[in-house]
Amino acid sequence: MSSRWSDRVSQALGLRLAAWYLGTFLASTLVIGGLTYGLLASSLEARDHDVIQSTLREYAARYQAGGLPALARAIEIEQRSGRREPLFVRLVGPFEDVLLYSLPETWGAFDLSELAGGPNAIWGQVRARDRNAILEVATLPLGGGTVLQVGKTSESRDELLSRFRRVLLLGLTAALVIGIAGGLFLTRSTLKPLRDLRDAVQRILNTGQTNDRVPVYGTDDAVDELSDLFNAMLARITTLIDGMRNALDHVAHDLRTPMTRLRVMAETALATNDPVKQREALSDVLEESDRVLSMLTTLMDISEAETGTMMLTRSAVDVTTLVAEVIDLYEDTADEARVAVSASVAPGLVVSADRDRLRQALANLMDNAIKYTPAGGRVEVAAAREGASVVIRVRDTGAGIPAHDLPRIFDRLYRGDQSRATRGLGLGLSLVRAYIEAHGGTVEVESAPGTGSTFTIRLPNSREEPS
Ligand code: ADP
Repeated sequence: MSSRWSDRVSQALGLRLAAWYLGTFLASTLVIGGLTYGLLASSLEARDHDVIQSTLREYAARYQAGGLPALARAIEIEQRSGRREPLFVRLVGPFEDVLLYSLPETWGAFDLSELAGGPNAIWGQVRARDRNAILEVATLPLGGGTVLQVGKTSESRDELLSRFRRVLLLGLTAALVIGIAGGLFLTRSTLKPLRDLRDAVQRILNTGQTNDRVPVYGTDDAVDELSDLFNAMLARITTLIDGMRNALDHVAHDLRTPMTRLRVMAETALATNDPVKQREALSDVLEESDRVLSMLTTLMDISEAETGTMMLTRSAVDVTTLVAEVIDLYEDTADEARVAVSASVAPGLVVSADRDRLRQALANLMDNAIKYTPAGGRVEVAAAREGASVVIRVRDTGAGIPAHDLPRIFDRLYRGDQSRATRGLGLGLSLVRAYIEAHGGTVEVESAPGTGSTFTIRLPNSREEPS
């Protein structure tokens, strides 16, 4: 992914977002402006019609009551007093003779012959000859062929609307400017986390450093969540890579000594011509290579569990059955060592665990307990629920562990001074701890020389029934 290409993609995306924002902003401004304009135009028209109609009714009543003079007087008084806005008034007799006529001088010239008369023409319109205005006229038959007409020019209304249109245009121009600026700002700020993400990926690709992180702005939106997840993924990758690197270093380091030993044995075999000694050396080589193989497998298992790459096949494991299996496995060894083994497990105890790995951990503790307990001693396995955990204890009445050994017994390849004579690789407890911690649990030891040791496994509780 070249940076120019990604720049172009982000620019295109930015432009698209800005265009969408601008379009939506303009469209909504247009709709609101158009609706306001339409509402204003129709309410102004309705108001003019109301004025015309009410005046028409009033003048008709005056005419009915006092005839033409009364009507003429009423019009004159109103025009002089300025009580009512000036209107067009015409009274047409039965023979098309105009009995009364009043048209404000400022309204311009209208060809009134275009006005349809007759008893049914309620609303009519005449366009001004000298300007862009319309005279709207309402006609009311008064009986006997006489009709009364009252009208009003649309000029003032048109002027108001045209002023409104100018304001609207100004508003739209402002909306366009705000829309462009807002769109650009919004796009820039929306795409900022994505640009950060792209830059981080680019940097990681260039340098191979997975400890780089994307800034998280704490806005709690989807993009922020993506950055958070991306950082979590980077942290996990870093842990895995570091873990694998460490594991490789450890294994390489741990294998150096046995491999050197193996080499020395092979050299010894080659250096002698005595076939008996050669056979002995070869048999030692075989034994040592078995140890190396077993060590390699265990070291890989420990590393896998410690780095979190181990796939645990979890199921509901019945602790009673598991303890019984392990005790069964060590029955002969315990008999041989003349160590009494007993178990006390609370009924119905179930943990969600990888059955084989949990069995292996328990077996390692059991193996040590029997191995480091002199004849006549006791080993006891107890399991119970304690608060939110299931606790399994392996207690022995053996030699105990000296205080200076205690902090180191879980280290890889560490063997207590007094244990050198016994078989072992010094990996048993490391494996126990790696497996138990991979399950989210803990393992602890309490021991004092001469009084025996107690190893305690604590696992998160599971109330599932055994499968
Ligand atoms: P290994 O048993 O192969 O030496 P482990 O990792 O299992 O290796 O144990 C590490 C050391 O811890 C042992 O060498 C021993 O000194 C001490 N240890 C472990 N379990 C016991 C125990 N039950 N009693 C006394 N010492 C123990």
